[in-house]
Amino acid sequence: MSNTPTTTKVHNYSAGPCILPNEVFQQASKAVLEYEGTGLSILEMSHRSKEIVAMTENAVALVKETLGVPEGYSVLFLQGGASLQFYMSALNLLKVGGKAGYIDTGTWSNKAIKEAKRIGDVQVIASSEHKNYNYIPKGYAVPAGLDFLHYTTNNTIFGTEFFHTPKTDSLLVADMSSDIFSRPINVADHDLIYAGAQKNLGPAGVTLVIVKDSVLGKTNRDIPSMLDYQVHIKGESMFNTPPVYAIYVSMLTLEWLKKNGGVAWIDKRNQQKADLLYGEIDRNPLFAGTAEIEDRSRMNATFVLNDESQTDEFNAMLRSARISGLKGHRSVGGFRASMYNALPVESVQVLVDVMKELERTKG
Ligand SMILES: *Cc1c(COP(=O)(O)O)cnc(C)c1O
Repeated sequence: MSNTPTTTKVHNYSAGPCILPNEVFQQASKAVLEYEGTGLSILEMSHRSKEIVAMTENAVALVKETLGVPEGYSVLFLQGGASLQFYMSALNLLKVGGKAGYIDTGTWSNKAIKEAKRIGDVQVIASSEHKNYNYIPKGYAVPAGLDFLHYTTNNTIFGTEFFHTPKTDSLLVADMSSDIFSRPINVADHDLIYAGAQKNLGPAGVTLVIVKDSVLGKTNRDIPSMLDYQVHIKGESMFNTPPVYAIYVSMLTLEWLKKNGGVAWIDKRNQQKADLLYGEIDRNPLFAGTAEIEDRSRMNATFVLNDESQTDEFNAMLRSARISGLKGHRSVGGFRASMYNALPVESVQVLVDVMKELERTKG
């Protein structure tokens, strides 16, 4: 009987929650049995114990170091997912009587717009909806006088990604749920960044928020405590009981990233994976990508079979190659390969080999 985890044996392309590094799973499982010589499981420890306070501080420090977070910004670990941030970001930044602008690049942007409308005036500045969100809008004019401009850096469902930072005179807010830590970013260009952890950072249950302190407290609105960034900053992410284990696993993932060379390293590796897969999508006459080439996401590659009647055979081949999670989202159809940080290059090669094999059997 072997105790070897099976996590390396499946090529996990899940869009989220998703693959994490195998060594993170190993360490995380040990901490459930006993956390670092304390005689306690991490699951039964007080969040205010010195060990867990130190762990949380380390997680914050790793976020700051990895992304180069400048002075004057706070790093928070909250709950409620990116979905709560859709509302919370607007609640904390949209002034009473003010107006916010949104770039609409898909399902998640839409959800953010819907929540912000509960709070105030919202203007959609640009949208790629008319082409089923297969590109990133460019060349749009951002009106003056907005309280903030919001964009979604990576569109997990439609497979597009921003490779530029929108220009605005107002505050800039970004939902980076599905590409944070996949590449270097300029935090100073942004006033608020949020991300559900379960795409590139850790397990579901914790949400990362990076916020510029000086932009808060200006809405002239009474904000409930749990939805007030300033309350969480003051409480150092422990205003209420934080999701300790999810923060711990995120911390381990950041340690893994740092040890290997940080975002500069992962940026290269993610490019390598994207080049490998998109290269095959473009070369193989059986397949077609669904997103405009210049806007293709490096995290989520969306593609279709030109002849849908080959779907069952392709799926059977994927199953026997132990590739999981490749089914496309219902709003795009076809396939979606999510190549988050922890997915090895070898897994992409296995997928490419299956695509080649399908071509061979059909040729
Ligand atoms: C997954 C995802 C969300 C939703 O995150 P939750 O943590 O489930 O609320 C929001 N935005 C983007 C870009 C996502 O990929």
